[in-house]
Amino acid sequence: MKNVIVDKEKCIGCGACIAIDPAHFDFSDEGYSEVISNNNLNTDELKNAMDSCPTNAIYGSDKDCKCDESCDCGCQNGEPCTCDNNCECDEECNCEGCDCCKHE
Ligand code: SF4
Repeated sequence: MKNVIVDKEKCIGCGACIAIDPAHFDFSDEGYSEVISNNNLNTDELKNAMDSCPTNAIYGSDKDCKCDESCDCGCQNGEPCTCDNNCECDEECNCEGCDCCKHE
């Protein structure tokens, strides 16, 4: 997988993934888990965090979004896409490789 994603609709903010793998997860301002790094995705800690999620909110993706700073979806320039199918890119987004954007 190229990136790890937390489904914001499924996360209940229990904190298990953050306790197990603080290198990849932290609490968002809203009190739910958010991915803070997509580096080193083959660790035991990440696997254990994904397996421990009580709502199966964490999953991997092979999408490789190339949004630039004009993208409204929150991707960082050149970083893997984490918005999955909830991307809210505007029409100026220069996204490549991401099939969730709502424009061509
Ligand atoms: S383990 Fe699952 S439900 Fe708990 S905070 Fe992490 S993503 Fe959310």
